[in-house]
Amino acid sequence: MSVTNQESAVKVYGNYINGEWVNSATGEVSESTNPANPSEVVGIIQKSSIEEVNEAFTAANDAHKSWSRLAAPTRGDYLLKVSNILEERLDEIALTMTKEMGKTFAEAKGEAARGVAILRYYAGEGMRSTGDVIPSSDSDALMFTKRTSLGVVGVITPWNFPIAIPIWKMAPALVYGNTVVLKPANETSVTAAKIVECFDQANLPKGVINLVTGSGAVIGDAMLANPHIKAVTFTGSNTVGKHIGRLAFDKGIKYQLEMGGKNPVIVAEDADLDLAVEATISGGLKSTGQKCTATSRVIVHEAVYEEFRKKLVEETAKITVGSGEDSSTWMGPCSSASQLETVLSYIEIGQQEGAELLQGGERVDREGYFVTPAIFDKVTPDMRIAREEIFGPVLGLMKVSSMEEAIELANDSEFGLSASIFTTNIQKMLTFINEMDAGLVRINAESAGVELQAPFGGMKQSSSHSREQGRAAIEFFTSIKTVFVK
Ligand code: NAD
Repeated sequence: MSVTNQESAVKVYGNYINGEWVNSATGEVSESTNPANPSEVVGIIQKSSIEEVNEAFTAANDAHKSWSRLAAPTRGDYLLKVSNILEERLDEIALTMTKEMGKTFAEAKGEAARGVAILRYYAGEGMRSTGDVIPSSDSDALMFTKRTSLGVVGVITPWNFPIAIPIWKMAPALVYGNTVVLKPANETSVTAAKIVECFDQANLPKGVINLVTGSGAVIGDAMLANPHIKAVTFTGSNTVGKHIGRLAFDKGIKYQLEMGGKNPVIVAEDADLDLAVEATISGGLKSTGQKCTATSRVIVHEAVYEEFRKKLVEETAKITVGSGEDSSTWMGPCSSASQLETVLSYIEIGQQEGAELLQGGERVDREGYFVTPAIFDKVTPDMRIAREEIFGPVLGLMKVSSMEEAIELANDSEFGLSASIFTTNIQKMLTFINEMDAGLVRINAESAGVELQAPFGGMKQSSSHSREQGRAAIEFFTSIKTVFVK
């Protein structure tokens, strides 16, 4: 919605281009609102034009020469400063996130703390990003690889991890000598602006980081059309990711796509059922099921099916749904009206397809985009609720009679992001590790989550197969020169 805001007490957030906060020349803005209380405006953000995208890229391109020539440890020092500022502002920025997309304050604080830790990890990378010395067959020669930066990297991010995802893309991009143009999700642009404020407060040289907010389609396409873009890193839906991937491929630039999931958990007959129930709930319903790694398919051996289902239903019924700002809330709202619509439509679809809704899936009778966590029974692999990413608090139970059948069902998906098994049997663990087609394979642990120093990414349609986080990030954000000296 466009608003005129002169009289408003709500803060207006500009674009950040070449070290300056600037309002869009279009004069158009939109409101970022609270999904727990949609009449509350969290901030006003710019609806930018193609010209502003181009200005940001020009600034980033101009800054690249001197930034890439700065010693890598010095670039790391900047990230360390940013981490300290983010840490000082942790509660404030986490609360903004809770207000913008509904995640509970405790989870938002955890994510902001993750952002601090990622910045520190990549600050250290400034002193660790080495190449290799390779033995030459000429004993008088020196042969080695040297990592070089790519140039300007376009960063396009979703609303569900509005601190961690931009940071885990921007921190490695910057430390390896690239400059950045960030286009965050519209829904969480105020949180993104506050992250960029932390970089601004750390006095990063002008143009090294730039922020442009507004329509994904307008800005995204303009980013990919800009002659200065040298790589694009994207996290979001498959439809948009594939569109970006095609544009990047045609342009001949590097691209990294992290997309959807339909993550299974297998509960074997020898599983610790209390642990499996707890992890299924946590993995599937935390953040209102709005994680790319959230559990959605629950594949349970027939020997423990009844007992597991009973415990799952009992424990899920205890979940408190409410505003993320309320400390007694376990699960916040869906992040937007359209997310709520999507969840409610899949609740309908599941029932029409013949699955049995055991509980939940009801809109909560209060202002805001609240829905109760849903559990479907008798889900079959052909159903849309078993195949399509819902991105909400919906679990689907499936019964199997063997480990072989469980793995076949778990792999029966176009996605391959994360997968868990609960078992006490080492042979089953090994079979699962070997046969599960997923980028994250987790044993006796929920499907959601990975530590920041480990590679993150998916197989099949979940990813363009490069990896984010940890040391893996260097592969995307740098090029290698093979040097021969005689
Ligand atoms: P989305 O694809 O709608 O949007 C992602 C970003 O792309 C936003 O910044 C959006 O403005 C932008 N965008 C939209 N249209 C565009 C276009 N035509 N060109 C360029 N950019 C465009 O996704 P979302 O709704 O923000 O996030 C939810 C999705 O993200 C889910 O599918 C989820 O699985 C996925 N996700 C994946 C991971 C992962 O690491 N695999 C992590 C988090 C979220």
